[in-house]
Amino acid sequence: MDITKSKGFLYAGGILLGIGAIKKYQLSRSGSTNLEAKRVKTKSYQYKLPNLPYQFSALQPVVSKETMELHHNKHEQAYVDGMNSTFAALDRVRGKGYDSKARQGMRYSLGQKAAFSVSGAILHELFWKNIKGKGTKPSASLLSQIKTDFGSLDMFMQEFFDTTKPIQGSGWGVLVYSPEICKLIVLPVQNHEDNWIPNAKVLMVIDVWEHAYYLDYQNRRGDYLKKIMNDINWDVVSSRYEQAIRVKPEINFK
Ligand code: MN
Repeated sequence: MDITKSKGFLYAGGILLGIGAIKKYQLSRSGSTNLEAKRVKTKSYQYKLPNLPYQFSALQPVVSKETMELHHNKHEQAYVDGMNSTFAALDRVRGKGYDSKARQGMRYSLGQKAAFSVSGAILHELFWKNIKGKGTKPSASLLSQIKTDFGSLDMFMQEFFDTTKPIQGSGWGVLVYSPEICKLIVLPVQNHEDNWIPNAKVLMVIDVWEHAYYLDYQNRRGDYLKKIMNDINWDVVSSRYEQAIRVKPEINFK
């Protein structure tokens, strides 16, 4: 008889798995520094706001120090807090089983909150890195892709501006590369989480939520957008592009 198929073995295995799960849980709460405990910890709800990669005044005069302080310390912090509270709430709902209509509704709205807060936090981190790059230029291979897809760098800039400026309410101008269709695409992302293309790699993002510019530009989103687009860090965008074109597409449309 194969012992691995016996009920006793499965039962013992289940207990072992159970003990393993409890141990992992304890490790994640005890502040242990071993790698596995850290991995478990990051699955939990203890995410922290990363530091801004430069000084708050670094984007002046395009974006004021005051705007940057509020933007990073208050607005981005709120998305990180949102991640933590969403995953904590999901843990609580999961722990209570699958029995009530109310909890089904909560799972739906927590799924939406996860999309909103995680996308918001990630977009801000991508944004800080792909601006403050005055004087940088796209790499030769990115420029060649831009020319293929948009005609020229100026035509890309125009398309990015025209796609991003009219976003209704809050959103982001986003340049992606889709490994599936081998193209650069500009997306008018609504809030943080609408109008995406699955599997596309994000190359460049610009925040056009009012909190990004209102103190400095009031309602003149177009003026802000034009100025900040002159401060794109093309070194960062080019390096994201180099990574994106190495991604093996999962779907072949040819
Ligand atoms: Mn923002």
